[in-house]
Amino acid sequence: MNQFELIQLPFEPNALEPVISQKTIELHHGKHLQTYVNNLNNLLPGSGLEGLSLEEIVKRSSGGIFNNAGQILNHNMYFQALRNPTENNAPQGKLKSMIESQFGSFEAFQKEFQQKGATLFGSGWVWLSLAQDGQLVITQESNAGNPLTSGLTPLLTFDVWEHAYYVDFQNRRPDYLSAMWKIVAWDVVEQRL
Ligand code: MN
Repeated sequence: MNQFELIQLPFEPNALEPVISQKTIELHHGKHLQTYVNNLNNLLPGSGLEGLSLEEIVKRSSGGIFNNAGQILNHNMYFQALRNPTENNAPQGKLKSMIESQFGSFEAFQKEFQQKGATLFGSGWVWLSLAQDGQLVITQESNAGNPLTSGLTPLLTFDVWEHAYYVDFQNRRPDYLSAMWKIVAWDVVEQRL
């Protein structure tokens, strides 16, 4: 029996255009993420990790199980916090105040987040997380990494694996990162606080 299933997207496959094409969504969600789900379901039996939540598996595992569970958790958090493109898309309420007090302005936060995403060498993820002292932190995670293994509460992530942007932006990772702000579902991000 399969413990994990591919999540359903909270938007239609073409809803993120022109930022992210339907073709990319079909490959990224339907092929890449599905493969991580299939791999984890095949690896779990006999591992001693059966029945745990995805978060617990990520905290306790290593090797192939960690890589596949981490990629499922990361992609679920990525896709679930995206929406159709909106001009002047920005956080509201408590998260807006926290970002402004910590980074100076939303624009300064965006600049640092994009810079960390652009300079991550190879495949990985750039994250905004909440630390236990209440501070917001931006971190780079290689491959399947997730900030929760460092005791942080992950809030927002942009996937910087090439499969996330190559069809639409080719090698222009910085252009992908700057376009992503139009499609962040900030209400979902704030709920993770
Ligand atoms: Mn991906």
